[in-house]
Amino acid sequence: MRDDQYPPLPPLSVGPAGKCPRCGQGSIFKSFITLKEKCDVCDLDLTFADAADGPAFFVMLIASVPVLGFVLWMILGVGASYWLTALITLPLLIVLCILPLRPIKGWLVASQYYHKAEQGKLDTQE
Ligand SMILES: [Zn+2]
Repeated sequence: MRDDQYPPLPPLSVGPAGKCPRCGQGSIFKSFITLKEKCDVCDLDLTFADAADGPAFFVMLIASVPVLGFVLWMILGVGASYWLTALITLPLLIVLCILPLRPIKGWLVASQYYHKAEQGKLDTQE
């Protein structure tokens, strides 16, 4: 089926759930963050999708600020030792960094499809 046979789906409605950006039904993931090559429902070729470092960048932005605030509060506010702070903070940091990876990657792939983002190329025809 062609792209114009499907209504455009907003990236936030399908991406975080890991659904196909074209049909909104098939899953785009074959493992935690590895993409399938095509949608099982509508056969959309997913090889166009290249989120690259995007998900990691957004996860770092989302996780680092609250964790840094927590660390400063633990050390300066509570007066906790560095070891206790590290013991509490490291698992928190791991959870806050890993859990959002998949929904953010799904959102970026859906946004890439929705906005037809692709590699820039020169227009050589005049
Ligand atoms: Zn699909």
